[in-house]
Amino acid sequence: MGDVIPFRRPRRSVDDQNGRALCRSGHHKWEIVQGQRFDVKQGRLVTVFRCKRCNAIKNEAR
Ligand SMILES: [Zn+2]
Repeated sequence: MGDVIPFRRPRRSVDDQNGRALCRSGHHKWEIVQGQRFDVKQGRLVTVFRCKRCNAIKNEAR
């Protein structure tokens, strides 16, 4: 038979893999989604962050 050409699956970049590893260990890449929102439950202003890599959400009271 002829040559077998291995099927190449698109692989995630090394950078992305490293990023995911960082996310799993709690080092997310936060960006502000919504600044200075008033959180009724907490009764104070919070800033909403989202991780660029895994879309995790966190609120931070200011
Ligand atoms: Zn993350």
